Amino acid sequence: MTVVEQSAAAFVPAPPLAARARNVGGSPVRDILAVTARPEVINFAGGLPAPELFDVAGVADAYAQVLAESAGQALQYSTTEGEPTLRAALAARNSARGLPTDADDLLITSGSQQALSLLATALVEPGDTVVVESPTYLAALQVFAFAGARVVAVACDEDGIDPEALDEVVAREQPKMLYTIPSFQNPTGRTMTAERRAAVASVAARRGLWIVEDDPYGELRFEGERVPWVATYPGAEDRTVLLGSFSKVMAPGMRLGWLRAPGELRRACAVAKQAADLHTPTVNQLAAARYLADRDLDAHVAKVAAAYRERRDALLDGLKDALPEGSVWNRPEGGMFLWARLPEAYDTTELLRSVVEHEVAYVPGAPFFAGAPDRSTMRLCFVTHAPEEIAVGVERLGRALRAV
Ligand code: PMP
Repeated sequence: MTVVEQSAAAFVPAPPLAARARNVGGSPVRDILAVTARPEVINFAGGLPAPELFDVAGVADAYAQVLAESAGQALQYSTTEGEPTLRAALAARNSARGLPTDADDLLITSGSQQALSLLATALVEPGDTVVVESPTYLAALQVFAFAGARVVAVACDEDGIDPEALDEVVAREQPKMLYTIPSFQNPTGRTMTAERRAAVASVAARRGLWIVEDDPYGELRFEGERVPWVATYPGAEDRTVLLGSFSKVMAPGMRLGWLRAPGELRRACAVAKQAADLHTPTVNQLAAARYLADRDLDAHVAKVAAAYRERRDALLDGLKDALPEGSVWNRPEGGMFLWARLPEAYDTTELLRSVVEHEVAYVPGAPFFAGAPDRSTMRLCFVTHAPEEIAVGVERLGRALRAV
């Protein structure tokens, strides 16, 4: 038999996926939420910034100028670390916010999501332990799962991580890193107090671990005082990786993020990035740098925050009548999310299918927990719809919950 005849005769399937790809599945909630793309659904589930608030004219102008003046550079390969003009502008923004930063301290990433992957590649061996907040950002859990990490949750309350609990977990589990979202957390919307940040920095220094401080929402503050980054507190300086992103303040489609990390770790992340995508699109980096030079990003962010504040208030107004008696929820001072806990008898994952039939959606809280899930919780994103639609949506939610 020829080789061709042999292979036609015996069909042997191709080898299986890597174990990590088999083990890190999508979530069943995804299928239910797929229907929320229907335009009639008022969607508190998705985490999308409001597109009508993008500064389309400003961004378009930045791209046009970059392409008119330096197309050869903008459409060319670039360095892995990132465009010097963008790194310098971001370093200046960090420094102005109380964290002295040089352009060289930064690595531009393709969204902060990529920064998480790079850090996992650079730091986490299979079997290493990563400590996360309870609950935490779903796609970070996915990154850590792909890296083969053991993920352990630390107890949190409305002020963020409980430092005593952290100290205990770190002593017991010997983790390599703590992953935290201190400001307007995803999914809870809560913000860690200054006191807690100082305590977290001190535990990390005393026990010896990395802190990954993920801050995509911090600039979207509606009220109250800005709390300094964990990275600025004593003990945190040499061990904190701060992640930033343009996704929530400019546009997520530009896929622009950055990480600020000590030299050796930053260089390891740059090598990992080289393997992943060589560099973040040059044209996007130059357009963002141009935007920062020519426009007032802070003024734009203030406009977005003012609109988001109205939307949060519309949701808060409606929740009083919508959620069953005994429910509790928070009042985030910024960001995009609010967290609610229904009475224990309610399982928000089970309820989602029938709630979606009322043309409104939320994300069940359970998948955000690395440890034992609180099944009566839900995340509500309040920024995707205008206040009037939010009022209708939250009424629908109330009707749906009363019907079950
Ligand atoms: N971290 C957190 C906490 C997030 O909520 C998100 C986006 N939902 C990301 C990182 C990733 O954002 P991006 O890659 O768009 O910067």
